[in-house]
Amino acid sequence: MADKSFNPFAMAQAQFDKVADILNLDTATRDLLRYPMREYHFNIPIRMDDGSFKVFRGFRVQHNDSRGPGKGGIRFHPQETIDTVRALAMWMTWKCAVVDIPLGGSKGGVVCDPHNLSMREQEQICRGWVRQISRDVGPVKDVPAPDVMTNAQHMLWMLDEFEAQHNGKFPGFITGKPVGMGGSLGRTEATGYGVIFTVREALRELGMHPEETTASFQGFGNVSQYAIQLYNQLGGTVICVSCWDQEDQTSYSFRKKDGVNLEELQKISDKFGGIQKNKARDLGYEILPAEAWIEQDVDILVPSAIENQVTAENVTKISKQVKIIAEGANGPTTPEADKIIHERGIFMIPDFLANAGGVTCSYFEQVQSNMNYFWEKDEVLGKLDVKMTAAYLAVSALARKRELYMRDAAYVISVSRVAQACKDRGWV
Ligand code: NAD
Repeated sequence: MADKSFNPFAMAQAQFDKVADILNLDTATRDLLRYPMREYHFNIPIRMDDGSFKVFRGFRVQHNDSRGPGKGGIRFHPQETIDTVRALAMWMTWKCAVVDIPLGGSKGGVVCDPHNLSMREQEQICRGWVRQISRDVGPVKDVPAPDVMTNAQHMLWMLDEFEAQHNGKFPGFITGKPVGMGGSLGRTEATGYGVIFTVREALRELGMHPEETTASFQGFGNVSQYAIQLYNQLGGTVICVSCWDQEDQTSYSFRKKDGVNLEELQKISDKFGGIQKNKARDLGYEILPAEAWIEQDVDILVPSAIENQVTAENVTKISKQVKIIAEGANGPTTPEADKIIHERGIFMIPDFLANAGGVTCSYFEQVQSNMNYFWEKDEVLGKLDVKMTAAYLAVSALARKRELYMRDAAYVISVSRVAQACKDRGWV
């Protein structure tokens, strides 16, 4: 079970503090980077389909924009909190820096559950979110994107509202737009593929062959599905995936020991990445408890659902066979669990490196939108591979050279780039 008292922002700050010590950062730089530069809290009043009014809580947090405009998704989640958004904004700063793209870190959210909202109500929330924040975001300030439970349609409504407010066309305002409406080919695949580009490099470094490996995934949403697709193409076998069951308000793991079939599972899953368990059972899947995904005898674990999932309580259940953990999700591992993983010598590909494919492709989308010239999918994915591989190699080279844990090495690279930018601008 996830620890209910867990605070993701405290965790993000603890991770930062550790690296600030390694880098011996001065007090002003620490104070600057430990907290967001700015944050916005607002109400979004909506007329619901039944004629009643409901007020939703919205956030935008801009952690640091020393290297370029803020960049970060907008999550729709019933348990969204300002501390989650703060943590995610900070992680976006490090993520953009580790892949060396000229963007800063932001994040947004709305406390809502799209499962219980009509499309019209969701459109009103999107437009309301933009109306509340439109003066403080934009192509040269802060560029939103989709995230948990938001998609290309939400982004298009947001773009439309922003353009109405600013009286012009600003396709660089937001990324994750539909292809043909300023979106980039390859964006849907980008995060999942990016995870596997880093896994491929880690396997190479560890002298392992993908076709001889197995993996278990938490989550069956956008990140997991495309990660599984590319991992399968490399010859790997996924034996277990898990997802949230909206009806039962718990999650389940779905196992097939000779390998899950991606297309088959996609056919019986909804747009939120929830697999229908009765249909899965008919197809020969074992339906196991929520945490079974973490206990499997596999070579690779890919937590790609939500934050705070690998904890001090369940980390001991990780099989001795596991060699690599690739964090598809943001913040899936608590600091206590991370310490144990480090001590056990499991090779960690930390979230802000592993899942940086999404923001890298968002950056490509922004570049294409601003040029009004769009690349072919192979070109996008090829450029993505180059960026992700270069970032991975830089982190792993530093980890080896300074005998650092991979998470610390990634942090050292990111934090020093951002601290240097702040210094060069004369902020600290
Ligand atoms: P998604 O909404 O498409 O899918 C989430 C999946 O996680 C679903 O299958 C859902 O059923 C499952 N899930 C939710 N709660 C769960 C639980 N308690 N136990 C097991 N499964 C659970 O989301 P996504 O876009 O795939 O994002 C997943 C994670 O990756 C998030 O942490 C997100 O912030 C991060 N991320 C996403 C992107 C992106 O481009 N989509 C980029 C970077 C990071």
